[in-house]
Amino acid sequence: VLIALEGIDGAGKTTQARRLFEVLSGMGYDVVRTKEPTDGTWGRKLRESSKTGRLAPEQELELFLKDRREHVSQLITPGLEAGRIILVDRYYFSTVAYQGARGLPTDNLLKANEAFAPPPDVLFLLDISPEEAMRRIHQRGELGNLFEEESSLRAVAKVFAAMNFPYLERLNGMDPPEQVTRRMLDRLFGGVLST
Ligand code: C5P
Ligand code: MG
Repeated sequence: VLIALEGIDGAGKTTQARRLFEVLSGMGYDVVRTKEPTDGTWGRKLRESSKTGRLAPEQELELFLKDRREHVSQLITPGLEAGRIILVDRYYFSTVAYQGARGLPTDNLLKANEAFAPPPDVLFLLDISPEEAMRRIHQRGELGNLFEEESSLRAVAKVFAAMNFPYLERLNGMDPPEQVTRRMLDRLFGGVLST
């Protein structure tokens, strides 16, 4: 079972991935928690570029695709084949939203990814306002990352807001973390997982 967590920076993806991991593995499920960009060669290059200066959108996209191809073939697909639950903190919907916000056509971005990356069984999209996102980013002391600016986040949020997939579940990222986790579990056990 593939579960993706998406949303703008500060929405609570990592917190929720951690919480879901704890609950599901505590129930005895074989769970893998992973993230994109990864800690692999391409993912590290991307994180580096977020501190030193942004690449051109096409160049950035190329790195995200390389990183994801590796992630899918080395971890996601083998994990799914082994019957594991894979929790991914950002997936190709981030590419559609972030590189789309930089001007690349979103339908092409989606197609390029769907050509090789398996769609999630459930996509949790955490919603928070760009203002709240900036507040949380500052609080974390993450200031200085060129990717995280209110105007950019606003454009990214717009692409996320326009998404529509049968497996998409929108959640309010302003709710208390426990409540968000509860909703996620309700959705999972009402569908793709059974107790
Ligand atoms: O904290 P996280 O690991 O999600 O940080 C990844 C960074 O990469 C964020 O600053 C995010 O804004 C940026 N990003 C991006 N395009 C993507 C995915 C992430 O610019 N497709
Ligand atoms: Mg971040």
